[in-house]
Amino acid sequence: MAGIEIAGLSTVYPNGVRAVDDLDLGVVDGELFALLGPSGCGKTTLLRTIAGLEPATDGKVLIGGRDVTREQPGARGVSMVFQDYALFPHMTVAENIAYPLRVRRAPRAEQRLVAERTAEGLSLSGLLDRRPGQLSGGQQQRTALARAVALETDVLLLDEPLSNLDARLRLEARTFLKRLQRELALTTVFVTHDQAEALALADRVAVMESGRVRQLGTPREVFQRPADTFVANFIGSTPMNLVDGTVRGDRVEVAGTLLPSPLDLPDGTPVVVGVRPEYLVVAEHGFAGRVSTVENLGVTSLVTLECADGTLVGLVVPEQEEPAVGAELRATPTPGRSLFYGEDGLLLATA
Ligand code: ATP
Repeated sequence: MAGIEIAGLSTVYPNGVRAVDDLDLGVVDGELFALLGPSGCGKTTLLRTIAGLEPATDGKVLIGGRDVTREQPGARGVSMVFQDYALFPHMTVAENIAYPLRVRRAPRAEQRLVAERTAEGLSLSGLLDRRPGQLSGGQQQRTALARAVALETDVLLLDEPLSNLDARLRLEARTFLKRLQRELALTTVFVTHDQAEALALADRVAVMESGRVRQLGTPREVFQRPADTFVANFIGSTPMNLVDGTVRGDRVEVAGTLLPSPLDLPDGTPVVVGVRPEYLVVAEHGFAGRVSTVENLGVTSLVTLECADGTLVGLVVPEQEEPAVGAELRATPTPGRSLFYGEDGLLLATA
């Protein structure tokens, strides 16, 4: 059993930066867990504090139920891959991958077998006899990942593990990582600033900002029901429409149109309405505007409507139904996909 419990954890750097701020988090045994957030939100510091590479200023880290807050990194039963891969330059790829087994004095044949098997899954098979200096950045990164896996600890900590890979390799490495993580039931925490990667890979995601967790949930939860406008803004490959509105009885007036509202609030209360561009469809009613730009997304197109009051609303349409720039059209939210936020940015209701 190797779940991770984090309670009241703060990590303050000597210069006073509070990179992790009174944070509580639980990672379930065998879970693939993503720490997601913008640059500087404290993801790496949190991962390093779990690993023991940064001392916790306050609070506790438990791994497998054991308090490891004051333990050395080597005693915590975790393996890590950080952005600087720290491969041994004088060893081949195979030797680097099998290094943890060599330390354990595993038979040579077993070392080679593990190196070959892990290398195959990470498209490194043809490179086993090269040295790190003869590899690209992405190949070095995968070698470091393979070595961490070969350590066979219960907990794997990964900092931006796939950041150096091109789109195709990234997809392959993702599939491999997910399969391997399942097979070995490794409790895995990975840091990423790429929301698409977090949503694709993770069982659960913690969205961080300023050293705190803004929302913790499954990829579906953080995508469909962002708890606040920060998360709403951050998640999604096309930015969510977040438009100021006003409560008008059982409706909300927004960008010159009236949307049905689930809110029971006094007339005139300001709110923010969030709708993903993918959940707006061209219709006879809803947001009315003139098409100001059309962006090709491949199978679909991102259309920006400029409403009469100047509000810009994005919607995604099938590429065959792309309207002309300058055309007038209306778009309405798919039922159940509108999000209503209060002035404080917190989610009030959906409809
Ligand atoms: P990125 O995605 O850019 O790597 P991050 O979310 O991982 O960012 P951290 O690297 O954890 O963020 O940094 C969190 C905060 O702590 C930032 O404000 C950063 O400037 C600061 N910080 C990081 N390392 C140190 C350090 N060694 N000394 C002082 N401040 C630091």
